[in-house]
Amino acid sequence: MECVFCKIIAGEIPSYRVYEDEGAYAFLDINPIARGHTLVISRAHASKVTELSAQEAAGVALALQKVVRGVERALGPEGLNIFVNQGEVAGQVVPHFHIHVVPRSRGDDVRFVTPTVELSEEEFRELSGAIARAI
Ligand code: AMP
Ligand code: ZN
Repeated sequence: MECVFCKIIAGEIPSYRVYEDEGAYAFLDINPIARGHTLVISRAHASKVTELSAQEAAGVALALQKVVRGVERALGPEGLNIFVNQGEVAGQVVPHFHIHVVPRSRGDDVRFVTPTVELSEEEFRELSGAIARAI
């Protein structure tokens, strides 16, 4: 077992745990981008959300809501960013599915700067159709 997050779940690597149940485990990110930056991970090892079973995915979603509620109660952030990096190109470093929960406050230094792409109406139609047909 080479996966650092599997090792955390197994207790072989220490973590600042905040929650665990049969489907998920949550702990503080060791390199936080804000105070209270928390990771919610699937107990099952899978790198992508689509590699989880429906039950495993649902379990992580339920744990996410509990963790977010806890972060809100404990820290009272003005807002949160909740996101997943999937694939190296998207910034995923640890290939074990995890959801970032990042408390936000007005005037903090967290920034997600990204350009937008321009699409024609036809492209919007094609894209929505292609995705819808593939679901
Ligand atoms: P990502 O770039 O989405 O794969 O995020 C991986 C995250 O895991 C990073 O924010 C790291 O700071 C965090 N991380 C890596 N190793 C550990 C660890 N041992 N304990 C806590 N967080 C970790
Ligand atoms: Zn793993």
